[in-house]
Amino acid sequence: MPEQPILSLREIEKIYGKNGKEVHALRGVSLDVFPGEIFGIIGPSGAGKSTLIRCINLLEAPQSGRVLIDGADVTNYRGRKLREVRRNIGMVFQHFNLLTNRTAAGNVSFPMEIVGVPKAERIRRVNELLSFVGLQDKAERYPAELSGGEKQRVGIARALAMQPRILLCDEATSALDPETTVSILNLLKSINQRFGLTIVMVTHQMHVVRAVCQRVAVLDQGKVVEVGPVSQLFSNPQAVATRRLIQEAAEIA
Ligand code: ADP
Repeated sequence: MPEQPILSLREIEKIYGKNGKEVHALRGVSLDVFPGEIFGIIGPSGAGKSTLIRCINLLEAPQSGRVLIDGADVTNYRGRKLREVRRNIGMVFQHFNLLTNRTAAGNVSFPMEIVGVPKAERIRRVNELLSFVGLQDKAERYPAELSGGEKQRVGIARALAMQPRILLCDEATSALDPETTVSILNLLKSINQRFGLTIVMVTHQMHVVRAVCQRVAVLDQGKVVEVGPVSQLFSNPQAVATRRLIQEAAEIA
């Protein structure tokens, strides 16, 4: 594995609220994600996953701790530098977050329009991305005319439009049926293999981690309680939270 992590979190602390009503959402979270890996962050509801995502994509400032990208401390970036770092982190959402008044092509084009990519280049990229996600024949459809899986394919194409260094997937398959989940996970795997893109999958579903991730961190009550290769986690789980998540997955299956 390469030496330099593409993403590092160091001792992240996040506390919401004040005056005796504090919620300690993240307690000293540290982890390293290496270039080209599919890294899972799993935890039960309330573990701090959403908070961690907002710290990784720099929407939320932690009270203390550092976020490093390619070794550079980006925790306190503001303005233009912050926008540049954010552009390097593509987001895929549980509920797709598509613009309802734009077609599939219009949604994929949108981030490029914002930064002023020339029209000819935009059209070329939109076509390339929509055909890569298997939607070349649905470019002119609106989100309401697409299935959940198709909407998520548009969401993925849009996330790739700015050629990010990291793809951050927030419960990307949690709103999809099992069959569609498999097809979206296969698409994410092929993106990782074809472009070598680093993917961080945040999920509460153990079967998602098992299907695509190489390594995983287990988050429980704001702490990383276990981290390691997925095979090791399943064969020899150490933390109570890990055992519980495996147990729940076995009951659903
Ligand atoms: P998860 O995504 O794993 O369900 P969250 O990050 O949403 O976990 O929440 C972690 C903890 O922080 C929970 O106790 C939650 O109630 C609390 N929390 C999250 N966001 C806020 C907020 N904006 N204000 C106050 N408490 C919050």
